[in-house]
Amino acid sequence: MEHTPPRKIPFSKVLCDGDELQLVREVLSSGWLTTGPKTAMLEQLFAKKVQARHALAVNSCTAALHLGLEAVGIKADDKVLVPTMTFTASAEVVRYLGADPIFLDVEYGTGLVTPEILLEALGAYPETKAFIPVHFAGQAVKMISDEGDGILEICHRNGIAVVEDAAHAFPARTCGKMIGSIGDATCFSFYANKTITTGEGGMITTDNDKAADRIRIMRLHGIDRDVWNRYSRLGVSWEYDVVAPGYKYNMPDINAAVGLAQIEKAETMREARQRCAEYYFEKLSGVDCLDLPVVRVPIEDHAWHLFVVVLNQKAKVTRNDFIKYMTEMGIGTSVHFKPLHRMTYYRDRYGLRPEDFPEAERIWRGNVSLPLYPSMTYEELDYVCRTIMGILQ
Ligand SMILES: *Cc1c(COP(=O)(O)O)cnc(C)c1O
Repeated sequence: MEHTPPRKIPFSKVLCDGDELQLVREVLSSGWLTTGPKTAMLEQLFAKKVQARHALAVNSCTAALHLGLEAVGIKADDKVLVPTMTFTASAEVVRYLGADPIFLDVEYGTGLVTPEILLEALGAYPETKAFIPVHFAGQAVKMISDEGDGILEICHRNGIAVVEDAAHAFPARTCGKMIGSIGDATCFSFYANKTITTGEGGMITTDNDKAADRIRIMRLHGIDRDVWNRYSRLGVSWEYDVVAPGYKYNMPDINAAVGLAQIEKAETMREARQRCAEYYFEKLSGVDCLDLPVVRVPIEDHAWHLFVVVLNQKAKVTRNDFIKYMTEMGIGTSVHFKPLHRMTYYRDRYGLRPEDFPEAERIWRGNVSLPLYPSMTYEELDYVCRTIMGILQ
């Protein structure tokens, strides 16, 4: 007989209960489906939300990271620092430009690069051109500090550009500032399971006018004016110039329409995820063999994209068995991440060894991401917690 789990709780679930359908309908009936007025509106709203001078919509966070590195001048053979505990997108974009990633270990508990880890890397690689901090799970790295020893401050003192991977971090804050208003460029993801979604999509923010101009041109074939600007002007102009071999990274208005509905509820969805995180902390803090995430920012500054726990050495089950039992009980989980130093391409190309990343290895031995989404009920949370305790005790 087939085993049917008592409950079905997904790892994540998108919430499209607002104006998503209505706004998409408007786009479809308008006759203009690609980048246009909805995208422009999403950019304006997003810039306002994160208090950035410029917000440029693109078709993924990966595209945003590529354009960000290009705009700060990364070229072939440059060195760019990237944490090992991230998605491959953070490092592959370095390779797009012919530059080389230098992988950094992260702090156990937060999964973040600390100023100490950064300083050590700069000692070993003084020729570094840029750093891509990842705001893992939605918690910001220590970008700035009253003492001036934050990651942005260290980088700028050393002439190093900071392009933030904020795929997990909307909306998130640190030291009273929104993520998106701090680094040289900040890259967000609107992928289907991220904190807000456009199906596929991304945004890059910057306060630098020159960088914004470059990104605007490079996201659409290196053409000197947006298609929509050309066609919306009186006396439609067919004429355009190509000033660089750009990319095809623009966001269609169909996707931007979904984003407009999502951005309205970004903060209420964040609060709903925080409520889930608080429940996990309350119920699971007594479980000896489980290390819960370490939170160094006020809890409401955290975007709560992920709730990553680590099965420590006291656990009697392996991570993989734990995931198997959770699946049998109908609970979806995930792993963020298998560190990049363990991926064949990076490992072989750069001769990476696990022993050079001891903290990431400690995380990797037991990391599991628990279900976390805005519409998750207390009953579902309770079922997940009771199942975990049943497996581990
Ligand atoms: C999801 C993710 C990305 C890539 O986002 P896309 O919008 O799918 O390109 C980049 N970095 C991190 C850390 C991610 O989790």
